[in-house]
Amino acid sequence: MSIDLRSDTVTKPTPAMLEAMFTAEVGDDVLGDDPTVLALEEKAARLFGMEAALFCTSGTMTNQLAIRTHTRPGDDVICDQLSHVYLYEGGGIAVNALASVNLVHGERGKLTADLVLDHIQPDDLHKPISRLVCLENTVNKGGGSYYTIPEIAAIRQVCDDHGLRLHLDGARLFNALIETGESPEAYGTLFDSISICLSKGLGCPVGSLLLGKADFIKQARRYRKLMGGGWRQAGYLAAAGIYALDHHVNRLKLDHARARKIGQMLEHLPEVEEIYPIDTNIVIFRLNQNILAADYVDQLARKGILAVPFGRHLVRFVTHLDFTDEHLENLELKLKEGVVSRS
Ligand SMILES: *Cc1c(COP(=O)(O)O)cnc(C)c1O
Repeated sequence: MSIDLRSDTVTKPTPAMLEAMFTAEVGDDVLGDDPTVLALEEKAARLFGMEAALFCTSGTMTNQLAIRTHTRPGDDVICDQLSHVYLYEGGGIAVNALASVNLVHGERGKLTADLVLDHIQPDDLHKPISRLVCLENTVNKGGGSYYTIPEIAAIRQVCDDHGLRLHLDGARLFNALIETGESPEAYGTLFDSISICLSKGLGCPVGSLLLGKADFIKQARRYRKLMGGGWRQAGYLAAAGIYALDHHVNRLKLDHARARKIGQMLEHLPEVEEIYPIDTNIVIFRLNQNILAADYVDQLARKGILAVPFGRHLVRFVTHLDFTDEHLENLELKLKEGVVSRS
């Protein structure tokens, strides 16, 4: 039995999700008449109390469309040094939006109102114009750390005081919502735009949504077409999204509980030096100085455990819909056998 903990994107659609996809009513989304896409966009917008939504192929696309739509060439985007929009989107802020980036060194990838304030450019002709703040929730590189509403409200206040837009990379926003018990509507009122992923913890094969005001989404839709992101009978994929929003959100707490159990297992391993706090479904741990993460991950793979190196001595596990209690027990046995040959 292979245990795949590389990401919460590795899930396969469940039989019930596939059934929903096979039986979807579809149209042509570029022509604006795919009923299932329209239903998903409306459902998501309503859930967050936002005006409109745009269904896209990936979280990279929804983030990039948001940044491009919010900014003008030469503008400055404030984000954390660990953020996905900066680290893992191919330099897209520079390529797609022609914008510059002002990196913040936050705590586990999280900005604070004071940090944002410190990074707003003065009105000076030498400087780019600060236009947009991007938050990530939960923070992937921060080990699944999350914001609370009061923390975000303080950042929103700074944005309002300085005429800045606020975007959320919410690839794993539902993990944060499940953990804090906060409401999606509260998020809808605080952000100008929100990106959520359906293919992360929610188990869809494809899909992300960008949420925002109607005129913002209209412009983002133009850019999506320009980038070749217009699609036709996308309702088959949207049906998976509707199914996931209805059935796969509440169960995320199981992923969080299993992640914490993995943390307890790791505490007993001599090769593990440090375990990052486990707040949601991401487990990051540091190996002893003499063990390289790449070697360790290779050895795990030989035992049928798939993980990703997350730095020179860091390894990441992510729990998800297809990682069961049976997998958890099996993982414990294999980790206990010892992974590194010790002399
Ligand atoms: C996965 C992820 C995305 C989007 O990734 P895609 O693979 O393009 O869907 C965006 N932000 C964060 C924090 C992510 O983890």
